[in-house]
Amino acid sequence: MQLVCPAGNLPALQAAVDAGANAVYAGFRDQTNARAFPGLNFSDDELRAGIRYAHAKNAKVYLALNTYPDSARLRDWHAAVDKAAALGADAIIAAEMAVLDYAARTHPGLPRHLSVQGSATTAPALRYAYERFGISRAVLPRVLSIQQVERLCQNSPVALEVFAFGSLCIMVEGRCQLSSYVTGASPNRHGVCSPAKFVRWDEHNDGSRSVRLNDVLIDEFKPEEPAGYPTVCKGRFDVGNEIFHALEEPTSLNTLELLPRLKQAGVTALKIEGRQRGVAYVSSVTRTWRKALDRLAADEAHWQLQPEWQSELSRHAEGHQTTLGPYHRAWH
Ligand code: SF4
Repeated sequence: MQLVCPAGNLPALQAAVDAGANAVYAGFRDQTNARAFPGLNFSDDELRAGIRYAHAKNAKVYLALNTYPDSARLRDWHAAVDKAAALGADAIIAAEMAVLDYAARTHPGLPRHLSVQGSATTAPALRYAYERFGISRAVLPRVLSIQQVERLCQNSPVALEVFAFGSLCIMVEGRCQLSSYVTGASPNRHGVCSPAKFVRWDEHNDGSRSVRLNDVLIDEFKPEEPAGYPTVCKGRFDVGNEIFHALEEPTSLNTLELLPRLKQAGVTALKIEGRQRGVAYVSSVTRTWRKALDRLAADEAHWQLQPEWQSELSRHAEGHQTTLGPYHRAWH
């Protein structure tokens, strides 16, 4: 299985490749990708250098062009496809039909992956994207149980990539309206969830802190409590006079224990989430997964989950806790 790692900038790309990534995914410095945070992503020159670096070490570079443009801005997404092709990207990752259609017609030799933002969770949806836009791979949304992933592997006309580690997006991807509802900007159209420019922290006399997003109270932290980024879905809200993480506790997905099963199912690639994370995260998480994958390739029958792998990954998890998320869901 291929290990696909996040590259939020050139140092992260190099760290991922050095740590054993088979491929990295990256974005341009604009709203064409779903991690349009200030300070992240690549200029043309940086991407050119990154592609050269990755190719020299036999790794691939995929360009995420996975947001949904409105019609007035569609030409910017088309230009990004042209640029990805000109710079020598190994594939684009897209969700919007108009982007996939343009790429298929204009650059038929440039492989197209259906983004997680495309929300394809059924074999007919995958078949449609394959027949209509010639996708060669799809990234599955993080809403499927392991049994559903196994069934899709049997019925999919294209190679499948699944999320293996990192922050969770709890909604059906590409359709979450929470950030848009609170701020008017969302990962779907603007490439950023809960944008930093709407964040306001207030310190109180007793040392506690509250955080608001566009004046909506997202969370309050006691003086000793570690404070997380105020992503809407991870806030604590007052529901029925009880204040709790009403949508999702801060936690990270970690599927390491499912590795043999994902391989047997026929999954082609494992994706590590986290283009917004630093070089230390990318390097450590990639190295850990590389070790686990190499051990699996060397001796599948005797592969065992190593506690040191898990503790290394837990260090980088949101809230320092991990979950199998929907993979181990009992209901279908
Ligand atoms: S609010 Fe949460 S679920 Fe929705 S897009 Fe943002 S991170 Fe994902």
